Amino acid sequence: MIRARYSLNNYSNLLLDWIFPTKCPICRALSTVCPCEDCLQSLSPHNIEYDRPTSFLDGARAIYRYQSLTVDLVQLLKYQRQTNLSHWMAAQIREAYDNWLLDVDYIVPVPVHRTRLAWRGFNQSHLLCTDLPEHKIIFDLVRMKRTRAQFRLSPQQRQQNLVGAFTCNRDLKGKKILLIDDVITTGATAHECAKVLKESGAIWVGLLTFAGTPR
Ligand SMILES: [Zn+2]
Repeated sequence: MIRARYSLNNYSNLLLDWIFPTKCPICRALSTVCPCEDCLQSLSPHNIEYDRPTSFLDGARAIYRYQSLTVDLVQLLKYQRQTNLSHWMAAQIREAYDNWLLDVDYIVPVPVHRTRLAWRGFNQSHLLCTDLPEHKIIFDLVRMKRTRAQFRLSPQQRQQNLVGAFTCNRDLKGKKILLIDDVITTGATAHECAKVLKESGAIWVGLLTFAGTPR
């Protein structure tokens, strides 16, 4: 009976795949997995480890190098919320989290400003936390200032742009925190977040991102 039901499910899945074939969100090829095998092949993980990228961050890791395909992936996540893709990216974050062997008290998705949240409908950093231990995820780091898009600015302007942008609403005395974000480039955002978390008492702040530009 169980077997018959299993087969029926399999057949209905095959039928659904035939009626609504899944397309790879990157190359648009028909594929049952997301991203497709070809795109996955060209996405070899780099596990870039940053050695104390700023005075407030105690460690930072990026799973993939931020270039061509990973830029496309991050853009798709941010602007089109491809759910298949966000599930896959969240699974990558979970794997990297497990491999890092961290013992953190809290996980903090890098926040977006409420007006951006209202416009986009979601925070991409929060989507990346989907597979992480739910009881550790907190939202007490808040983005107060609606800042200009960082990618248009020089490294100095980026830092200046973010001054006073974040605030933390929780006492983090003695706590170890892991920040989650989609991308690290200059590290300006992570630096500012880590600074605020340290000012709230955190003793260790790390960052895990989906992609990163090597420094
Ligand atoms: Zn593809």
